[in-house]
Amino acid sequence: MDTRPYMQDRAAEEFFSRLERGSFQTTRCLACGETHYPPRIVCPACLGEDMEWVDLPREGTLVAFTQQSDAIRCRRPDVLGLVELEGIGNVITRIDAPFEELRIGIQVAFATWTSPDGVALHQFRPLE
Ligand SMILES: [Zn+2]
Repeated sequence: MDTRPYMQDRAAEEFFSRLERGSFQTTRCLACGETHYPPRIVCPACLGEDMEWVDLPREGTLVAFTQQSDAIRCRRPDVLGLVELEGIGNVITRIDAPFEELRIGIQVAFATWTSPDGVALHQFRPLE
């Protein structure tokens, strides 16, 4: 059974496939050079369809976080955050740390995580 997240398009499918191999990447338009997150099959800036895959920053800044008591895929309670990646913008992601230990503005680093139902996802955890 395919337990991966619902695939919006082939760019999303490729994103999760790369994530399973430990790559954290997104698309960049070969025509205008714009980098997108989430990855796109069509460039929102110039409508170009030729893309290359480029590495996303593996460190960022925690700009918001919350704790949900009722998690869909994750253990309960689960911490979610908004991580600012330089040159990309904000990424919604799982945060691998207790809610009480987090502070706005701390630096966090990328890691992969496999949910209890076998889905490879991204998460960030505070840098020491
Ligand atoms: Zn473009």
